[in-house]
Amino acid sequence: MLDPWSNSNVLEEDYIRLIKEFGIEEIDEKIRQQFLNNKFIRRKIIFGHRGLADIYKAIEKKEPWAVMSGIKPSGPFHLGTLTTALEIVEFQRMGGKAYYCIADIESWEDNGIPYEDAEKDAVDNMADILALGLDVSPEKVYIWRQSKEPIVKDVCFKVGRLLTQNMVNAIYGEKPFGLYLAALIQVGDIVLPQVKDGVQPTVVPVGIDQDPHIRLTRDLTRRYYTKQKFFLPGATYHKLLAGLDGTDKMSKRNPNSYFTFNEPLESIEKKVKGALTGGRRNRNEQQELGGEPQNCMIYKILMYHFEEDDDKLAKDFERCIKGELMCGEHKRDCAEKVLKFVKEHRKKKEKLIDTARDILNID
Ligand code: SF4
Repeated sequence: MLDPWSNSNVLEEDYIRLIKEFGIEEIDEKIRQQFLNNKFIRRKIIFGHRGLADIYKAIEKKEPWAVMSGIKPSGPFHLGTLTTALEIVEFQRMGGKAYYCIADIESWEDNGIPYEDAEKDAVDNMADILALGLDVSPEKVYIWRQSKEPIVKDVCFKVGRLLTQNMVNAIYGEKPFGLYLAALIQVGDIVLPQVKDGVQPTVVPVGIDQDPHIRLTRDLTRRYYTKQKFFLPGATYHKLLAGLDGTDKMSKRNPNSYFTFNEPLESIEKKVKGALTGGRRNRNEQQELGGEPQNCMIYKILMYHFEEDDDKLAKDFERCIKGELMCGEHKRDCAEKVLKFVKEHRKKKEKLIDTARDILNID
């Protein structure tokens, strides 16, 4: 069972099983070619989807479509949250209107953080996503806080009538009741683009662990919004980054597995240089046997976020398996790129804090 609130990772060999078990569509070559200007699809970080064909049709016909995402304000932005944030920016650049929610109801239900206490993180997280390039022109974005948005609460109560104990047990297992409510609020988040702005295909970029919310939303949309002819909300699924130490999923619950964008640069550098690699025990073995970039966190974080050049990535992969690239050199190169990214990000973010406050209406 996939658990959206757990910090356990999904093993590489499980992805194929999950695709079959939950009826996720694979990103085949046709879809990949259609979405080549999306870095995460091109690089096969996004491995599965639901409903991307509807998005492609809308792009071709120049019809409206939506990309929906959000963040739970329970701490500073970190390497694990970066993937979803950049995915929404990427889809917005491709022409989708972005719908972005601050999931403060979920931060209460999951982490016990009162709404007022979540406001500081909400502003900080909002400034991060703005610095990452989210376009906040009114025609290109709609942003809300769950606790203040009547639409999501309204949808929650309407569709809640269709939900039974058996259904939630089958999808989520036994959880505190508040988490089931938070899941219904997320249904509200995901159908909000169609309730607010009219019927349109919607894509929700998520890690595979969030698929239970997508399945629940599709099921309830199918049953409640038939007359309105709503599109079943779609999704893309990316492979979850393991922790820098190569074990657990990067998660706010495990501070050693990631770095935040707010922590000291020395600490970030130390964590990157200490990351688990796919390298051999020593230089001779590396030259003789080659490394395993597919099992290397340095290679993965470059591929996900810090190397823009596809050719360089491919060459480094090749050089690693041939034993021509050494881990020390590669780690230094990676740490430099990460620090450059973080420094530039902080500069941009500093100037956007007031804008973030205005958008969220928080003093
Ligand atoms: S050379 Fe680079 S990609 Fe290969 S295992 Fe070492 S750090 Fe990873």
